[in-house]
Amino acid sequence: MKIFLNAGHGGSDPGAVSKNGLKEKDVTKKICDILAMILHKRGHFVIQYQEQRSYLEITKEENKSGVDLFISVHCNSFSVDSAHGVETLYYPTSIKGKKLAESVQKELLVKTGLFNRGCKMRRDLHVLNATKAPAVLVECAFISNPTEEKLLKSNPELFAQGIADGIENYVTI
Ligand SMILES: [Zn+2]
Repeated sequence: MKIFLNAGHGGSDPGAVSKNGLKEKDVTKKICDILAMILHKRGHFVIQYQEQRSYLEITKEENKSGVDLFISVHCNSFSVDSAHGVETLYYPTSIKGKKLAESVQKELLVKTGLFNRGCKMRRDLHVLNATKAPAVLVECAFISNPTEEKLLKSNPELFAQGIADGIENYVTI
């Protein structure tokens, strides 16, 4: 399979920043680097892209890449510290996107042991509504939650493993 990995945010956009200064763009890059290695070892062809100036670049790259799957990796954030858990987003009318989201969500929960916020439909997200391949946006955990921030920082491989296994199970369905 040809898989497009987008590490969320990048360039001058750090994404969410924790109280300790941990930037979402650095966490997502780390997770995607590990994820790309795992997928490559499993025989997939991987394209990695993190935005430089605008998120519009991401779908432009995806549109011309001819990939089979698109995965955008993000961290969640909220004004209240206690918000926590994993969620995976997909475009409402995409049946394949929904299947991929459910598979990735399931394996992420197995690997991380975090709370299940479920799979959610999102019509308004550019990386879901302007991509050609079945697409999901993974909100790995809350960078604003101190416990989950620690996990994101010290164990990015857990998230990479979860997403990789979710992709593998989706592919073999
Ligand atoms: Zn984000």
